[in-house]
Amino acid sequence: MSTSTPTTPSHSTDDSRRHLRIAAEEAYAPQAVIDEYRRLLDAQGGDAGFRSLWSYYLLNRTVHTELFRSRITDLEDRRLSDMADLGIDHQVLSLATPGVELFELPLARELAAMTNESIADACRRHPSRFSGLAAVALQDIDFSVKELRRAVRHLGLKGVIVNSHTRGEYLDAPKFEEFWATAAELDVPVYLHPNTPSDGLIGPLLDAGLDGAIYGFGVETGMHLIRIIFSGVFDRYPNLRLVVGHLGEALPFWAFRVDHFHRVQDGTGRYPWRPSLQQPPSHYLKTNIWLTTSGMAWEPAIMFARQVAGADRVLYAMDYPFQVAPSEVAVHENLPIEDHERRTLFETTACKVFGLAQPRLVEGAQVRGSGHVAGCGSPSAATGR
Ligand code: CA
Repeated sequence: MSTSTPTTPSHSTDDSRRHLRIAAEEAYAPQAVIDEYRRLLDAQGGDAGFRSLWSYYLLNRTVHTELFRSRITDLEDRRLSDMADLGIDHQVLSLATPGVELFELPLARELAAMTNESIADACRRHPSRFSGLAAVALQDIDFSVKELRRAVRHLGLKGVIVNSHTRGEYLDAPKFEEFWATAAELDVPVYLHPNTPSDGLIGPLLDAGLDGAIYGFGVETGMHLIRIIFSGVFDRYPNLRLVVGHLGEALPFWAFRVDHFHRVQDGTGRYPWRPSLQQPPSHYLKTNIWLTTSGMAWEPAIMFARQVAGADRVLYAMDYPFQVAPSEVAVHENLPIEDHERRTLFETTACKVFGLAQPRLVEGAQVRGSGHVAGCGSPSAATGR
């Protein structure tokens, strides 16, 4: 995790690139949410993972944490200036992990709605720079379904973020069926974002200092993703779109073994309560799931994920402001792929998945400033996919 102030990406073709850079997993939290996190920490509330993660960001006075706090709550000059310095044309904004699920009601509902208003306002002020995903409060499913409808239909948001478990519960539970049905009906993606592991999972990770982004996020969220796949939700809603960060939370690497033992176990009837899938588990990585490169600026892993899931299913994300490094933009620019594939990675896949209006590109001109992404708040943005 870089603590450096961003500088211009070192990649030499910045002035001649033919694609916009859309970053798809970029965090924001209203000051009111940060204040409530602080209150929860002071009261020793929330779960063990929350206390571990947010005590670092909110109780430390280091250059890194001070910079982080100035970035996470900002949707104006600080963020726009960082984006310009980093060469990021457009951010898809979403509420930072763990969202509002650990708050009691009605506070959680109020903060989710307020977050959505703030993000929508920023998108209206800067439609070429921002679009956003809705926050919900899944401990109240009825509210979440209504808020998702409002956020998409009235605020122009482009999908919904879920920060993995909801108080230890996972989205394969039958109680969340209406949530999936609503996302499918609205034709918007669900972004499955990491959270620190649930209290049932975190013990040995916390002991070793591995509960956060270093590894625990991936354990928690990769397991959540495979539970979602095994629930058969993509058979029930074939058009459902799910976006997941960190190149699929290691699941592409596991795909062969998962398929193998899924087939073997189905043959033996070992887990009779498990729904039958119409396809092998890895199939859904190629049909319903998109992978962002957030926090994974590493050529071998990106190329592998493209090979497993498909080059048109892997899209760029930075993970601002948790991971801010110009060198990581350069890694993506320097991947051994053709220019049209680079545009797929940085621009067109994001437009397709989130239903952003296709940006205009001016032949031969500097992209930044001439390109345009009509994000939320723009009546022309609803291109569908
Ligand atoms: Ca993130």
